[in-house]
Amino acid sequence: MLSMEKLFPPDSMTIMIVDDTEANILVLQRALASIGYNISVAFDGEMALNLIPKLKPDLILLDVMMPKIDGIEVCRRLKEDEKLMDIPVIFITAKGDNKDVLEGFDVGAVDYIMKPFNLKEVCARVKTHLVLSAAIKKLIQDSEIDSLTGLFNRRTFLKKIENEAMRTKRNQKPFSILFGDIDFFKKINDTYGHAAGDDVLIKISKLLNTEKREIDQVARWGGEEFLILLPETDLKGAVQLGNKIRKQVSAKPFIFEDQEIPITMSFGVSKYSGDTPIEKTIDQADQRLYLAKNSGRNKVVSEDA
Ligand code: GH3
Ligand code: MG
Ligand code: MG
Repeated sequence: MLSMEKLFPPDSMTIMIVDDTEANILVLQRALASIGYNISVAFDGEMALNLIPKLKPDLILLDVMMPKIDGIEVCRRLKEDEKLMDIPVIFITAKGDNKDVLEGFDVGAVDYIMKPFNLKEVCARVKTHLVLSAAIKKLIQDSEIDSLTGLFNRRTFLKKIENEAMRTKRNQKPFSILFGDIDFFKKINDTYGHAAGDDVLIKISKLLNTEKREIDQVARWGGEEFLILLPETDLKGAVQLGNKIRKQVSAKPFIFEDQEIPITMSFGVSKYSGDTPIEKTIDQADQRLYLAKNSGRNKVVSEDA
């Protein structure tokens, strides 16, 4: 069995301790730091809310009774923020009525520890929740990302493109997609080996990521096929990007274990304006890619035959 500690080592995790009593912070900090966790501290709710978005801790130990903004309110606000809502929060407090405990869980805490606390129990609960949360995060990531290239997989990309389609319907700003496919890739595998083929896929993925704008999204659609979503971009802009990538790819051979591998890519481009199903736009780009293949490859096609 895989050791959880090897998968999620303590020194890769940061815990934030929030408490207005310095003595509590010191005790917790010493115990958790001795296990290897990175520790950050906040002395009240306001300071915690300022620091958490910057430090993005992996878990928060949160006191309830604090001046100005109390722990319950801190937790409530974190759970309203899409970027912070998944950080597990453990309340650690002297308020131990059943009603208080339930309120803590109601606002989204994963656990509730009473003061005076037993340090070993705190450490055990912290470990459980860190591992659980890291494992869930990894599962979600693995389901969204293509493991070879690190790009979005087809399923994730479809969700992104559907979101973008909804936005286009609201704001009437069309977007374009660029459908790219490596030319004669089968021959590259056959000539240089599968590992060389994999290496080319990784390098092309990096290149696509470098050449696109920040708001563009790239996916590995299939074996050696890539899709790029270009928000608020017309056909002309998409053709420009396609040609830029195409020229970069063919400018010099890829190198794998001292072998020079010449590569070219073909592209089909289409535009989504909000009046047809999104599948049609993807199909259209695919058909134009087919035209690019049939008319000599190493080109970008943005019109139907
Ligand atoms: P065309 O120019 O018409 O696109 O020809 P092609 O050879 O690129 O296209 P084809 O669809 O015939 O072959 C695609 C090849 O991509 C076949 C498949 O073995 C290879 N392939 C798919 N996924 C991977 C992968 O993850 N790694 C490697 N090395 N090869 C892959
Ligand atoms: Mg191909
Ligand atoms: Mg193909």
